[in-house]
Amino acid sequence: MIHKFNAFSDNYIWGIQNENTFIVVDPGESVRIREFIKNSSDVKSLACILITHNHHDHVGGISELLPFMTENTGISVKLNGRNLTSPPYIFGPPNCEEFGVNNFVKEGDMLEVNDLCIKVMDISGHTKEHVGYYTHSDSIACSQPIFFCGDTLFGGGCGRVLGGCIKSLYNAIQKISLLPKETQIYCAHEYTEANLKFATELYPNDDRIMERYFMVSKERKKNESTIPTLLSNELATNPFLKCSSFTEFRRIRELKDCWKG
Ligand SMILES: [Zn+2]
Repeated sequence: MIHKFNAFSDNYIWGIQNENTFIVVDPGESVRIREFIKNSSDVKSLACILITHNHHDHVGGISELLPFMTENTGISVKLNGRNLTSPPYIFGPPNCEEFGVNNFVKEGDMLEVNDLCIKVMDISGHTKEHVGYYTHSDSIACSQPIFFCGDTLFGGGCGRVLGGCIKSLYNAIQKISLLPKETQIYCAHEYTEANLKFATELYPNDDRIMERYFMVSKERKKNESTIPTLLSNELATNPFLKCSSFTEFRRIRELKDCWKG
């Protein structure tokens, strides 16, 4: 199952639990993760950490989680079929090394944590190096594929270019658009309502965008989360997935960068 941990003002840190195996994605801070492990009857340690990119709100909690990864608890961790034998296992792009990432990953790499397989995708663009983690496994009781996309795609929007480049970001969004339509998108921020407000201004006659905006606004009024979001829903209502060319993508990104809401 997937656990959601709120962090900072609008971040989500994701936890993947497969029986007693526990993996954390993008721990920008650690307090709720530490509490969870201390209070859980199944989870006693952290098998590994997955990092998407080097921004502080994604890596800031790594060092405080190291004590939970020192013991060898019998959990098997493999990278491209090779057994890893010295924890802690912190996976991420090479430019995250200074924050504690010690196992670098790239496009096409395959992680195996017990019987859970996780595929690495390069989705750079928001930052110079940015990866996403894709899994589709019954072992975590998720019948749908799951993609942890960090700050690349958001509900109704996409990440800004902050150190990366717009062409790479476009390519990354295109790559995500080719995942199975039933993929659940686990992004790292709750930005959906503002993103869709922008989308309604961009496409004032689009009923599906309007409908989704009203639904999301209601959810947010009740302080409900809008994440994960379904890729098919994003394909229908997210301006950055709906656009048909790089030129249009860049134009929308520039408009959004200046948009005051
Ligand atoms: Zn970021």
